Amino acid sequence: MPDDTPVRWQPERSQPPPPWPTPPMFTAITRGLRGRCPACGRSNLFSGYLRVVPLCPACGAPLGRVPVDDSAPVFTILIVGAVAVTLLLVMEMTMALSALLETAILIPLTLVLALLLLRPVKGAALGLMLRLGMLRSPEEP
Ligand SMILES: [Zn+2]
Repeated sequence: MPDDTPVRWQPERSQPPPPWPTPPMFTAITRGLRGRCPACGRSNLFSGYLRVVPLCPACGAPLGRVPVDDSAPVFTILIVGAVAVTLLLVMEMTMALSALLETAILIPLTLVLALLLLRPVKGAALGLMLRLGMLRSPEEP
């Protein structure tokens, strides 16, 4: 007697692992934070202040294909904005500084903090995206 129970089609969800190393998520993020390749940690992630090397020379991870684009400035703005606004509120509530003095403190602090954080935040975002397998197709610019 034939079996009449319906068979549900199941899509193939397993993907082959990439040819480069895939460390745990936290390791990939911290390596990117330190400016190292998130996959292997053996070579530099950047070839300039913010320019990402297209390919890791040590492990071959396609770092230039990670679409990190505007995520680094967005996260940097969120962090620096939270610090600057908190500092402004603390200065307003505890010290009686003039608006000019507050501006003279906060604007350089905001600029320096943003410039210092942009690179590690970009590295961390790139590490997270590479670990999640978010890559542009090779044809995309
Ligand atoms: Zn590498």
